[in-house]
Amino acid sequence: MRRNRTEPSDGEKMSAAGTPRRVADRLSTIRGRIFIAFLIMSLITGALGIYATLGIRQAGFLVNRTYDQSLMSINYARAAATDFAKMRAVFVRRTIAPDAATRARLDAELAELAINLAEDLTIAVERSQSDRAARAGIAVQGAVSTWDEIRRGLDLTAATSSAWEALDRQAAMVDGQIDMLVNYTAGDGFTYRQTARTIVASEIRFYAAATGIALLLSAVVAWLLNRRIMRPVKAASAAAERIAAGRLDDAIPIGGRDELGALLRAMGSMRDNIRAMMAREVNQRRSAQAMLADALESSREGVVVVDAEGRIALANAQAADFFGGQAGAMEPGAMEPGAPVAALPARGADPAARVLDSARTLARDGEVRLADGRWLRVSRSATQAGGFVAVCSDISVLKEQEARLTATNLRLDAALDNMSQGLCLYDADHRLMVVNRRYCEIYGLAPGSIAAGISARDVLQRCIEAGNHPGRTVADLQVEEAEAFGRAEGRTFVQELGDGRIVAIEKRSTADGGFVATYEDVTERRHAEARIAFMARHDALTNLPNRIFLGEQIDSAIAQAGRDSGFAVLCLNLDDFKLVNDTLGHPCGDELLRAAASRLGACVREVDSLARLGGDEFAIVQRGVDRPEDAAILARRIIDVLGAPYTLADHTVTLGVSIGISLAPSDGMSCDKLLKNADVALDRAKAEARGSFRFFEPEMDARLQARRLLERDLREAVAAESFELHYQPIYDLNAERVCGFEALLRWNHPERGRISPAEFIPLAEELGLIIPLGEWVMRRACQEASRWPEGLKVAVNVSAVQFTSARLIGAVREALAASGLPGRRLELEITESVLVANPGTTTAMLHSLKGLGARVSMDDFGTGYSSLSYLRSFPFDKIKIDQSFVRDLGQADDSGFIVRAVIGLGASLGMTTTAEGVETEAQLARLREEGCDEVQGYLFSRPVPSSDIPGLLRRWNGEARAIA
Ligand code: C2E
Ligand code: MG
Ligand code: MG
Repeated sequence: MRRNRTEPSDGEKMSAAGTPRRVADRLSTIRGRIFIAFLIMSLITGALGIYATLGIRQAGFLVNRTYDQSLMSINYARAAATDFAKMRAVFVRRTIAPDAATRARLDAELAELAINLAEDLTIAVERSQSDRAARAGIAVQGAVSTWDEIRRGLDLTAATSSAWEALDRQAAMVDGQIDMLVNYTAGDGFTYRQTARTIVASEIRFYAAATGIALLLSAVVAWLLNRRIMRPVKAASAAAERIAAGRLDDAIPIGGRDELGALLRAMGSMRDNIRAMMAREVNQRRSAQAMLADALESSREGVVVVDAEGRIALANAQAADFFGGQAGAMEPGAMEPGAPVAALPARGADPAARVLDSARTLARDGEVRLADGRWLRVSRSATQAGGFVAVCSDISVLKEQEARLTATNLRLDAALDNMSQGLCLYDADHRLMVVNRRYCEIYGLAPGSIAAGISARDVLQRCIEAGNHPGRTVADLQVEEAEAFGRAEGRTFVQELGDGRIVAIEKRSTADGGFVATYEDVTERRHAEARIAFMARHDALTNLPNRIFLGEQIDSAIAQAGRDSGFAVLCLNLDDFKLVNDTLGHPCGDELLRAAASRLGACVREVDSLARLGGDEFAIVQRGVDRPEDAAILARRIIDVLGAPYTLADHTVTLGVSIGISLAPSDGMSCDKLLKNADVALDRAKAEARGSFRFFEPEMDARLQARRLLERDLREAVAAESFELHYQPIYDLNAERVCGFEALLRWNHPERGRISPAEFIPLAEELGLIIPLGEWVMRRACQEASRWPEGLKVAVNVSAVQFTSARLIGAVREALAASGLPGRRLELEITESVLVANPGTTTAMLHSLKGLGARVSMDDFGTGYSSLSYLRSFPFDKIKIDQSFVRDLGQADDSGFIVRAVIGLGASLGMTTTAEGVETEAQLARLREEGCDEVQGYLFSRPVPSSDIPGLLRRWNGEARAIA
């Protein structure tokens, strides 16, 4: 909102109202008062001055009057007398003037003198001070006029003496009149002088009185000034002195609204501030003291302050603990460490005495052992007052550590001397500080030939002198070492000594700028490492490169292939080697392998690489293969050369070889691919004609692709559990009834239909899927069997791969527990391959399984290694004769003896025998004849879904209520 311009602002109003008040305020200040006092004094002085000036002026005026009026009047009266005298003289001359001209001139002169006289009289009358003088002047004028008339009327020629006498009388009258005038004027002058003197005297009196009054007034003003200013100033200065003297509680007078009032108020607040400050400081000091006391009390150091007289001025609790064990014993003044020993009570007499006794230790710096076994470090520092402060630290732990350190050092020395490495420790100047015995041993130095203090250079010199570095100088060794340790990775430097030993030197800088070097005789290790490195890439039996080395060779061939030409990878497999190995034993097998390797080595060129991949598998990388024919030539030569008979100890053996060949770059440009394709070709060669070679063809790969698809489907099927179990009855020939069923896995592929377990089980084993799959079979079979009539067993096939997993036992236990099937009704069928892989753990696992109550059968007996030792190594409950033997029963050739032998073996070992694959009555009859316990085969039933089991049981066992 706009304010009306005519309306005064608040400030203006305030100032308008405040002006008189401000003036009053200002005048009530000390300055105002001094101003007023001086103003009054100035006014008094001014009035006095003015009055004096007026008095002087009055005196001047009187002087003027005295001179101008009185004396001038007399003078002019006298001049008039002179003029008249002249007139009489001129008249006399005229009377005697001879001629008229002279008379005329004298007449004029007379007229002029008459005028002068009249003028002088006028002035004399004018200046006269009194009426009588004026009247006398007029009388003179009249007498002169009368004289002049008489003179004129006088006839000179005829004049009588009386006429002359009249004239003279008149003249005398004039003179008399003039004298009277003179007397009057002189009298007037005197009168005037008297009057002036009177006036001056009265003025002086008045001035003296005025000065007196002015002095009085000034005194009053000074008194007032003193009363209103000096007194409060004195009071203020007294208050200031009191504050300065520290009397802060004395009252400070209350001042007015002037500066002194302000000064007093300021002093008041100054006093308050000082008081608050002091209070604060006192508090701070108190709390600092409290903290100091607290810190002292809680300090882990004992502090004792001793005064100049040797008395304890202060001792903290820790000191009391150190020396007395009781705080009271260390009260200030309680003891005098300087007191003579004789005056002290015996040690241990009382706490104070103990303190006193112990405190004597404070007399010097150093370490002290207390009676209770603790160690103290005492450090003293003198105080300004002539006493001292002793600070005592408990160094028991340090002492203990020191002792431990000493012990450790001794042990360290022992360790140094007994360590297998040589060690030299040098200081920053490369001077030897520590050397151990082993160092001297390594370099063949006499014990004590190098000692602490000699330079690193001298040490090297001694080593050279001892014959460690023939033909080399210290400089050579230093350069060699500097180069080795100068490299980024260089911490270890390997040195070969003159006698062929190898020393690994490791050097590390130490914190003090020196270094420590360790020396290890690594001759043995180096040789072992070289051997290990060789073994890692070579086959121990034939000394040929192994698969790793071959991989490197293939990689290098691939790297060169683009530039030069292609190369071939040949995978070789010795035919029937296993037979030789099994029949003639491993030593013969090994010899045969070595001989074959040697022949192979003779077949290949320097540039080619030959490797043994394992067992009876070899591979060759043939370089510079431009045409497949080059590889074919080599393959043919190998087949020929290896096919020649071998003479091993007492035997002559012939051996075939099958070869698969892949060509780079056409069959692949990676090691894996080339090896795999050569393998595929080898498989084909073995399948089609042993002792032949095959080149890889893409169609071969198609099989692999199919396998890969199957792999994928199998994974999905396992995840989805899309399998079924079929059950084939096992018929007990003694009881003439079905005694159980074998659970057989079935996979109904959504596209390919039913796939044989013989096809997918090996794949599942390869992929590790057999473990979850086998567990599923176990659960399902036990579940199913638990619903069968008591006495019926279920046989479950267990893969060798399942035995590699510790989960098997748990899985069986869980399946039994979940289904409630008693362990005795479960039979586990395993093949010989299970035992071949790892007989030790497998046997243990089989025992665990038997511990669950389950029975264990040896399946497909006769097809595998058929080593009777396997039958001995584990107490099987049952032997299952493989169907390949059963198939031939009743036919012309004589596999019957094998069946009989197995049945006999089983009987003698107390094992049940079961014949598999019984398809005909003839086979059954023969098996009965041979005393076989159980049979299984299409003759009784194919494997059927669980839903068919009741029918089967009804048929074979005649059971009405077959399934629970
Ligand atoms: P296996 O344990 O020896 O099983 C017997 C095989 O012989 C079964 O083939 C069965 O159908 C077949 N067989 C039975 N009687 C006759 C007959 O009179 N004549 C002919 N020619 N064959 C007969 P299947 O079911 O194809 O099983 C093949 C193999 O797959 C089994 O041989 C077994 O080793 C394995 N297998 C089957 N199921 C499983 C399983 O659940 N787990 C494991 N690990 N392997 C299994
Ligand atoms: Mg079986
Ligand atoms: Mg079998």
